[in-house]
Amino acid sequence: QLVLVTGVTGFIGAHVAVSLLNKGYRVRGTVRSMEKANELVRLNPELKDKIEFVIVKDIVEPDAFKDAVKDCDYVCHVASPFFVENITDNKTQLLDPAVKGTLSALEAAITEPKVKRVVITSSFAAVVNRGRDPNAGYNYTEKDWNPVSYEEAVSTKNGLSAYSASKKFSEKAARDFVKEKQPHFDICTINPPYVLGPPIHPMNSMESLNVSNQVLWKLINGSKVQPSVQAYQVDVRDIANAHVFALENKQLSNGRLLVSQGPLFTNRISKVLLEKFPEKKDIISEPSDVPFNEKMHKVDSSLSKSLGLQYYSEEQTYVDTATKLWERAKQF
Ligand code: NDP
Repeated sequence: QLVLVTGVTGFIGAHVAVSLLNKGYRVRGTVRSMEKANELVRLNPELKDKIEFVIVKDIVEPDAFKDAVKDCDYVCHVASPFFVENITDNKTQLLDPAVKGTLSALEAAITEPKVKRVVITSSFAAVVNRGRDPNAGYNYTEKDWNPVSYEEAVSTKNGLSAYSASKKFSEKAARDFVKEKQPHFDICTINPPYVLGPPIHPMNSMESLNVSNQVLWKLINGSKVQPSVQAYQVDVRDIANAHVFALENKQLSNGRLLVSQGPLFTNRISKVLLEKFPEKKDIISEPSDVPFNEKMHKVDSSLSKSLGLQYYSEEQTYVDTATKLWERAKQF
């Protein structure tokens, strides 16, 4: 069975490809350049001759994936812009690529009768209501939607809000597409919070590290900052497995899956890493005395667990991520 993975040189896309290969699928990955594809294989020699690469320079082009989807049984649409800083135009930099990229993937799938399901990497950002008091203990489930309007999405000066809106509107576009066109395939979205994990994808410098891993890198790169961030997290390998899991699971036909290991609290990450790597105490940030806020909203991952999805332990995620980040940093 052949699976098209869009954005295979990204942080999550690379792991989705690895998970698919481990489960016996064949993988075709879209990349913006062959140089990046070669770099992915150089970094992960076990991928040599395992992934078929196709160049898709810009996912915004209407027929972006038309050739790439030929003969595919499934599609994992992972590619989407993910940055929250230095944004000058929310529409052209975030909203359009996210929405049009998703629609391009679905339009392409319509042209390939073999496609049975399109799994889309959405986000907890499409679920959370940023206007709600984060301390009200609200329990987010698959039923919740970020209420941001398109007008706010275009005009907000807050990068995180603009990015979150791009995920909401792209997921919504996908669900409307299925309702209106009743295609021969169905969809499923995976909605993760902060994704942490070992980066195996190409990058130019540690500054170009993907957004979500930056929170952990800042705690271990010698800067000794302690931002005391509290949110929710999931391991990139769990997310990758969730994509594979969602491809064929009947209960997830046109489904939505919230995936979370549990809370991300930077003080706890520091504590775990200081215990595991005492020899690195000069470069790991000390935990602050800000206590864990028990009243923070919850991310309910019970559906994923009831379907049998398993999660890495948080400690394992921190240790494996830190180890890989230190290893990658030596390259630059
Ligand atoms: P990355 O930035 O590492 O990956 C984004 C991927 O999308 C890259 O492969 C990138 O290509 C590709 N891409 C972006 N814009 C375009 C474009 N216009 N044309 C072609 N390709 C494009 O981020 P992540 O791996 O973290 O994110 C992947 C997906 O997961 C996104 O949909 C994101 O919203 C979602 N997500 C991520 C979370 C996280 O915490 N990391 C949490 C929730 C959801 P290139 O490799 O060439 O840059």
